[in-house]
Amino acid sequence: MNVLWIHRLTCCGNTHSFLNYEHLDNLFKKVKLLHHPSLSLDDEREVVEKVISGKLDLDVLIVEGAVFEDDLETKNLCERANVVIALGSCASYGNIPALANERVCGLQYRFKNRGGLLGADFLSSSGMPVINLSGCPAHPDWLSTILLSIYNGEKIDLDQWNRPKVFYSTLTHWGCTRNEYFEWKVEAERLGSKKGCLFYHFGCRGPLTYSSCNKILWNSVSSKTRVGTPCFGCTEFDFPRVGLFETKQFANIPAELPIGVSKRGYIMLSGMAKTFAPERLKVED
Ligand code: SF4
Repeated sequence: MNVLWIHRLTCCGNTHSFLNYEHLDNLFKKVKLLHHPSLSLDDEREVVEKVISGKLDLDVLIVEGAVFEDDLETKNLCERANVVIALGSCASYGNIPALANERVCGLQYRFKNRGGLLGADFLSSSGMPVINLSGCPAHPDWLSTILLSIYNGEKIDLDQWNRPKVFYSTLTHWGCTRNEYFEWKVEAERLGSKKGCLFYHFGCRGPLTYSSCNKILWNSVSSKTRVGTPCFGCTEFDFPRVGLFETKQFANIPAELPIGVSKRGYIMLSGMAKTFAPERLKVED
């Protein structure tokens, strides 16, 4: 299976992330990288021209970075690829470059609006819309697993934001080691603390964000919340936001509650939880 990886408006964070994949040698036994802007020495133009002219069939196109809405070359490449992957939140939804320039977008979205460079109805020749592997960056296992699924001809189910359900159907909150603190409303005393939840004051988006960051760990050992940094919600279409380290509150109630929790339910339960929190959870670290 051949793969062409292109860079557009990007910090290359997804490339850095991908290079942490532990089984690159095995992956490259199945995947032939036609060109990668940071890893290949040969001329990208030659490969791009061959693909666009139809001289070379392209199995998978990976786009890293946001795009200008009139980027004809990227559009032509997407139309020639069997499967198109938008790698990272910039390629998926526009992210920081789109905030800075209204002519910039993701491949098939601009933030929550479907459309982007390719249009809402775009399907690649395999019949799939763009597969969005959002994240700032995306985890290397997410990309390698999707590449292997394509290689094996497996069906890839997508959610409403075109993200593979296998990685984006549960909240970042799932698997977080701080869940007990969350339930008893015991907040961390400071960033980097080993104890306490980061939702109530430090802006953690774990209960509002779909990702598998606490199930498929980073470098196989850790995650943001495990080291005492809040989840920034970087896999969602509305990333980035201002005030990443603070929880906006009105009358002591977070402005945004965990998905599925009503304001009434939150008020009833949180007061009790805080009052009856076990002493062992209140110990400072
Ligand atoms: S730190 Fe974030 S992800 Fe972890 S339990 Fe608290 S709210 Fe959930």
